[in-house]
Order: sequence, then C-alpha cells, then structure tokens
Amino acid sequence: MAICPSCRAEYEAGTSRCAECNVALVDRLPDLASSEDTADIYACYDPQQAVRLAEILHAEGIDVLVRDRSSNLFPTNVGKGAQRILAVATHETARARDLIAAAIKDGVVPDEGEALES
Ligand SMILES: [Zn+2]
Repeated sequence: MAICPSCRAEYEAGTSRCAECNVALVDRLPDLASSEDTADIYACYDPQQAVRLAEILHAEGIDVLVRDRSSNLFPTNVGKGAQRILAVATHETARARDLIAAAIKDGVVPDEGEALES
C-alpha cells in the first residue's frame, strides 16, 4: 500500500504519485516525534489556549508539538511569560491553520495568539 503524505489518500502498491496532490507517495506516514519536518504555526502566551488548540488538532488526527519559548529570547515580550509555540508536520500546516482560525472565529479559544507564517 502507498499513502499520500499530503492528503493521506491510500493507493494500491505500484502507484507512485497522488492523483490529487501530484506528490510522491510513501509507504507509511512519518512519525512526527521522530521527524524534523515540522513547521511552527501558532504562538500564544496562554498555556490553556495552547492545550485547547492542541486538543482540537488531535481530535482531527493532527499530531501537535507544543514548545515553550522563553521570553528572555524576546526582550519585547518581557512580562508576558513564556510563549507557547504550536508546531505540526509540514504537510498538515494548511489544515491545522484552518482549524485554529475556525476555533478562534467560533470563540472556542480567545484571539490572543499569533498565527505564524513559515
Ligand atoms: Zn494527495
């Protein structure tokens, strides 16, 4: 079996490219924890917001890495505490961004964070 790393469509063995995405198929999806292939998509100062967003993405089958970024690296942010950075696998960034934007629009989480463009 072959899987599209972009849309996760499954194909018969022998197929080499996804008809939808025109990307090369892989035997299995990469494990996010062992992959360097992630992109930062969102930053916020509220740890509860970071957790809530991670839960929303998990519920949609997207693995999320949440990192702390110490404020001392960003002098203009002093007093706000550590920034939480949400990262997902690069092939999930578009979907994850849409989900986060929808959650903010629907009032599920406060609009306090900052979407990150990679
Ligand atoms: Zn595809």
